[in-house]
Amino acid sequence: MTDARTEELAARLEAVRERIDDACAAAGRSADDVTLIVVTKTWPADDVRRLAALGVRDVGENRDQEASAKAAATGDLGVRWHFVGQLQSNKAASVARYAELVHSVDRPSLVTALDRGAANAGRRLGCLIEVDLAAPDADGFDGAPGQNDGRGGVRPADVADLADAIAGSKHLDLRGVMGVAPLADGEQAPVSAAAFERLARIAADLRADHPGATVISAGMSDDLAEAVAAGATHLRVGSAILGSRPALG
Ligand SMILES: *Cc1c(COP(=O)(O)O)cnc(C)c1O
Repeated sequence: MTDARTEELAARLEAVRERIDDACAAAGRSADDVTLIVVTKTWPADDVRRLAALGVRDVGENRDQEASAKAAATGDLGVRWHFVGQLQSNKAASVARYAELVHSVDRPSLVTALDRGAANAGRRLGCLIEVDLAAPDADGFDGAPGQNDGRGGVRPADVADLADAIAGSKHLDLRGVMGVAPLADGEQAPVSAAAFERLARIAADLRADHPGATVISAGMSDDLAEAVAAGATHLRVGSAILGSRPALG
């Protein structure tokens, strides 16, 4: 599919890839160590098709209803689906059928539901623990002014127990952590940098017990450079590539 929308996506994708390359160069990291996940929520399956033609291999969604329909409509493309939104346990079985990696595991009941869903789907499912980076912590860092936008996420102190639950599940693979930087008006970059450094410390602690948990999913359209600087392995970028979403997106 090549049309005006494809040209638009190609230009924005190229610009984002350049930002990632620059951030990697500045951090002394290889761009090969950073996976770009293009978050296609609110945009049609045809955009996934256009992005795949432009070389995108990883796409993200935050609602099961939309994601499962798009995954079904683009099954021929072989792209990997990342579930990045808050997940209700009653949607876990559906997500377990198409997702490669669930970024938003934040409670034991969801671990149970995902494990059962993966078993029924006859596949293994990768899981990231979503950490609430706005939560106060014992290390004295009191999160950031502002809050985390009503998102989920476990408190840093609860990461270890949830990790053990995932690692002990028969059909789940513990792959790492995910975080969303807290919002703070007018100070997005410094707040993100501190939050992502905190996430990197949590990830290092996790790897001490679970060496296979190497993924750090952090960074979106506005703060991907800060995420790369702090060691993110996976970036979740939507609007910088697809355009701004309608207000309700
Ligand atoms: C929408 C979304 C993104 C992408 O956000 P942009 O600011 O559009 O890049 C990343 N992560 C999560 C969890 C999202 O819901």
